[in-house]
Amino acid sequence: MEFVVPAAAPAVLPVAGSEAVFPVRRVYCVGQNYAAHAVEMGGDGRQPPFFFSKPADALVPGGGRIAYPPRTANLQHEVELVVALREGGADIPVEEALAHVFGYAVGIDLTRRDLQAQAKEKGRPWEMAKGFDQSGPLGALTRVAQCGHPDKGRIWLQVNGAVRQDGDLAQMTWNVAEVIANLSSYVTLAAGDLIFTGTPAGVSTVARGDALECGIDGVGGLKIELV
Ligand code: MN
Repeated sequence: MEFVVPAAAPAVLPVAGSEAVFPVRRVYCVGQNYAAHAVEMGGDGRQPPFFFSKPADALVPGGGRIAYPPRTANLQHEVELVVALREGGADIPVEEALAHVFGYAVGIDLTRRDLQAQAKEKGRPWEMAKGFDQSGPLGALTRVAQCGHPDKGRIWLQVNGAVRQDGDLAQMTWNVAEVIANLSSYVTLAAGDLIFTGTPAGVSTVARGDALECGIDGVGGLKIELV
């Protein structure tokens, strides 16, 4: 096939212990999936899951140096468990959902919180607050065969060595199986889809020069530097 303009390279993720890479199709994110974070965002912590997306080319596999984004004075970090799907489907039952998972990673849902607040106030879309360039750094995928399906364990993030987020996967309002099942009632999921599953409390504002490190017990770690 001949393209009339250069085709973008596909987004791919490293897989721990493998030379092969994971091809990314879509990137979904869950909003406010930990009660304490929902409360710090002004909610009551008991809402059904809701979803938004990032473009696949906003991912930054392996983290590293990330350019501080334009048009914000309030960039915030959200450390999240990221689910990678090996197969998809529509209306996936909760009890069958985990069989669709290839593996897990730790990621950061970088957010231009000031733009998100404006969007919420005016009832406008979140894309420019959530889906900007380099807004999704994430670590290597760990296969289910290695890490199982983590449903508890520490999820944390520190900025310049100071702990800002320190939660546990067991605090998720909707667990991974429930998130997959619910999301698949809205859209048909497919192999290559990623789902950022929400962040625990403690999100905070970061600046140029800050070094962020995060991890999830049994899943992996990630470091980024804002430049
Ligand atoms: Mn998030």
